[in-house]
Amino acid sequence: MSVCSWCRADTKLTNEHVFPDWLNNLVEAPGEPYRVKWEADSVNSSAIRRTYPSARLGQTVATVCRPCNNGWMSDLEAGALSVLKPLILYPDERSAISPAAQVAVAAWATMKVAVAEGLGGLSVFTDDQRDALRLASAPPSTGRVHVARYNNVQMSAKYLRYTGMAPAGHPLAGARATTAAYVVGPLAFLVLLSPDSTINTGAGSGESRPAWASLWPPVTPAVGWPLLESVDDAGLERLLGEVAPGMILEREHLLPARED
Ligand SMILES: [Zn+2]
Repeated sequence: MSVCSWCRADTKLTNEHVFPDWLNNLVEAPGEPYRVKWEADSVNSSAIRRTYPSARLGQTVATVCRPCNNGWMSDLEAGALSVLKPLILYPDERSAISPAAQVAVAAWATMKVAVAEGLGGLSVFTDDQRDALRLASAPPSTGRVHVARYNNVQMSAKYLRYTGMAPAGHPLAGARATTAAYVVGPLAFLVLLSPDSTINTGAGSGESRPAWASLWPPVTPAVGWPLLESVDDAGLERLLGEVAPGMILEREHLLPARED
């Protein structure tokens, strides 16, 4: 028995995928191309270090109770999949992501980043922020979610997390924050979150740039797809800094999912 990280029920916990299982069926991966690797730095002394070849993206964390896993989390997965499937399969096709669709995928991406907290390291999500996802199917008001177009087609999934703090002199001085990139196929979600509500005044609210668009808060009338620019791995790390301007961030987690 343990405590569910979402509803806080003291119960038997189930495994939740860090990367969605449906991605295994959308993106063909012959053989055992994935070098499944878990890494964490000295922030967490009990960091997991494990590497093995795999035919599927199979990392899971056991932090979720069955009612959460099969209930609202499953609903968020289904809602996101209906939006993401055409974007992953046909990334060059012109489309528009409606505000409702933006909220659906932003909530899903935030949930997946919260699930990945189970890998270890600094816990950033507060109970209030988890409740926003669980009870309102929306990202927390203190979060920001952006989408970018990722052009490293060899990498079908990736999770990258930075944590840090706003330095002295920064408008948010002392605020802790984490920015995470959660990549599925050609889509990279940039999730900025802080346990300090002051981050709410941060930049990037409802804006779009050639390389990224805001999903949360949502953009009206829609986000046009594809974006004008796409990013590689270096560009992705640059964007993680761009959506959290002035923050001093250190890389904490990286899950490279495919062997080079
Ligand atoms: Zn639960």
